[in-house]
Amino acid sequence: MVVGSCFCEKIRVEYNGEPITSALCHCHDCRKLTGTLFTYSFLVHWADLKISGNPKEVAKRADSGNLVKNYFCSDCGTPIYGHKIQPSGIPEEITVLRAGIFDDIEFLDRHKPKIEVYNVGRVKWVCPLEGAGQFVGMPPLP
Ligand SMILES: [Zn+2]
Ligand SMILES: [Zn+2]
Repeated sequence: MVVGSCFCEKIRVEYNGEPITSALCHCHDCRKLTGTLFTYSFLVHWADLKISGNPKEVAKRADSGNLVKNYFCSDCGTPIYGHKIQPSGIPEEITVLRAGIFDDIEFLDRHKPKIEVYNVGRVKWVCPLEGAGQFVGMPPLP
């Protein structure tokens, strides 16, 4: 099990599983959500996560037409996770978990990004990561 938290530690995360995949994302929404030029996230099963505290949600309809909700700490602003909301209103089980919340550097060392998505949004002075699959959009999940 690995643990993580937001900056002020009011929200804590326990993760017990192996990520489905791990992705650097260069999309517009990730930039705005995090204030950084790209993000690193794990795609995980919701059932493998335990979140304590009360993250605040922000919803947006993506260009794809999907409703996406992202969750962050309302006290310190750290983005924690996000997921697509199905037309029924139920969140998809697959969750995008922000890698930077984890305290365990060894876990992060062991989990290099497998893919880079929305790579057309990558700033010119950042190189593609060696060994990572390159995608213009979001590829189908393994
Ligand atoms: Zn916080
Ligand atoms: Zn993104």
